[in-house]
Amino acid sequence: MVQKKEFLYEGKAKKIYRTDDPAVVLVEFKDEATAFDGVKKDRLEDKGILNNRLSALFFSLLEKQGIETHYLKTVSEREMLVKFLEIIPVEVIVRNIAAGSLSERLGIPEKTELKKTVLEFSLKDDQLHDPMINHYHIYAMELAEPEEMAEIERIALKVNQILVPYLKEKNIVLVDFKLEFGRHNGKILLGDEISPDTCRFWDSSSGEKLDKDRFRRDMGGVIEAYREVLRRLEENDTPAVD
Ligand code: 5GP
Repeated sequence: MVQKKEFLYEGKAKKIYRTDDPAVVLVEFKDEATAFDGVKKDRLEDKGILNNRLSALFFSLLEKQGIETHYLKTVSEREMLVKFLEIIPVEVIVRNIAAGSLSERLGIPEKTELKKTVLEFSLKDDQLHDPMINHYHIYAMELAEPEEMAEIERIALKVNQILVPYLKEKNIVLVDFKLEFGRHNGKILLGDEISPDTCRFWDSSSGEKLDKDRFRRDMGGVIEAYREVLRRLEENDTPAVD
């Protein structure tokens, strides 16, 4: 049994702890919610529990489909063990339908179906407000190698190919999502989390938002929406937490 050791790092939604195995860290999902680079803040009771469950569920599903992730094991209602990654500070955004910053930037009305899946990259830096970057910036700043970016793009598109039909079955449209990657033993692995904090989920019938946009846009019912996503994903499924 891996033992939780000292606190390592705190992000906006998670805390990371060392364990007695240097190749493994423990992630604790917090209830804090932030938006607009931390300008808007609140505590949403049970968000950490829901995102721990949802991330475990998504990572397990992806692993079954041959995608290597950092996820190892759920150890408590808020905690999972993951492989230690050397984080690549690039956020990878996958978009199927126009929404959020894409709609603002390019004037494409929200809900417009994109004719081709769009991949975008942002520098993971709150102080700079996660600016969008391209491959030239990534190589000039030595954030990742071309072969690593090819692998990251391959995995990001495969994740989309797996999650879109899976969620469609649950009456959820996967509008867009953000992924993060890191290096582990010379391999690129999918890291961070996959949850309503990092994805846009719309109810297929009503179009109702079931994700963090409810918090960003002061719509209320945030936790109820996260719970509803978990309820749909766990329906007829084996539980994610053992
Ligand atoms: P947008 O660029 O439209 O704001 O976000 C696109 C998608 O990526 C959304 O699903 C959003 O939740 C996710 N995303 C992009 N950047 C971040 C970020 O810094 N934090 C989180 N939690 N999600 C992000």
